[in-house]
Amino acid sequence: MTTPEKVVRPEIQALKAYHVPPAAGLVKLDAMENPYGLPDALRRELAGVLARAELNRYPEPTPRRLIELIKRKTAVPEGMAVLLGNGSDELLQNIAITVAKPGASVLYPTPTFVMYSMYAAFFSMKAVGVPLREDFSFDREAFIARMRAENPAVVFIAYPNNPTGVLYPEADMEAVIRAAPGLVVMDEAYHAFALKSFMPRLAEFPNLVVVRTMSKLGLAGVRLGYMAGAPRWLEQFDKVRSPYNINVLTEAAAVFLLERMEVLEAQAADIRREREVLGRALTRLEGVTVYPSQANFFLVRVPDAARAWERLRAQGVLVKQLHPGLANCLRITVGTPEENRILLSALRESLQS
Ligand code: PMP
Repeated sequence: MTTPEKVVRPEIQALKAYHVPPAAGLVKLDAMENPYGLPDALRRELAGVLARAELNRYPEPTPRRLIELIKRKTAVPEGMAVLLGNGSDELLQNIAITVAKPGASVLYPTPTFVMYSMYAAFFSMKAVGVPLREDFSFDREAFIARMRAENPAVVFIAYPNNPTGVLYPEADMEAVIRAAPGLVVMDEAYHAFALKSFMPRLAEFPNLVVVRTMSKLGLAGVRLGYMAGAPRWLEQFDKVRSPYNINVLTEAAAVFLLERMEVLEAQAADIRREREVLGRALTRLEGVTVYPSQANFFLVRVPDAARAWERLRAQGVLVKQLHPGLANCLRITVGTPEENRILLSALRESLQS
């Protein structure tokens, strides 16, 4: 009998699928989504736009209008190209496919976004995580020394980092980019909350691309990511893109909302304000260590994360419990003021013996 075990690559058999727990009916603070949703008037207008989308036709293979809007609205420097992905996840995967020569490695600070190591595994590359310091700050000397030793094809940097929220110093990143033997991917998924970016500096570094997503800005359901960089890099990544990877509905919704980007930016500003309020309140909780965040979430350390997570869920609040490498840590997305109040009171209760 032919079983999957006989034909599936052992490194894929060894992986676990990306697990997303059910969230129905819960205060959902586990996935760094924008909690606000679109204003009703905008939803109605968008409905009209989507109703006119030609679902019987394939999408434009390279959606020009959407790309031009992204360039304009996100200040992509003159001369740089933009490539679109079904979420930035797809772009990160495309980068990995493109550079996966036999023996190639990828390097990143750890802990970080788990998909960097997953994509390395998918394409049989060596994944090298260089530990951050204990407080999750960036260890420039250790990182650059390891990078010189490993000679990675790609360095992935989440800027700011997930799941810690820490934004590394710009000078450290600059030193990494200058010392890197290969490509550096600045993954700016949380840009809307940090407002620091390498986008304006793309032309300075011939080995740099910037990846961003519309997900955290309020369009997680739309699945749209983009990469900006020199055309000579992006034209290579474009070759491994699935045909028509941006569907008609995504394209129509994204064009509509990019033209009204100020609505999403105002929501991001609200989230940044709420982050300060929530951060101060979390710090006041006894037994909780809060790490400084420039993203739309906090990493917190509690005495017993498994117990706190269960007790939060029992009170209707879903947060993210992290892998064993991050002992006793929870990641909490910044919600609406009301959601944050519910979270704080449930967490206080969860920490009681
Ligand atoms: N990069 C980082 C650092 C992330 O945290 C995430 C989502 N958790 C992504 C990329 C992927 O986001 P998306 O595919 O929704 O664009």
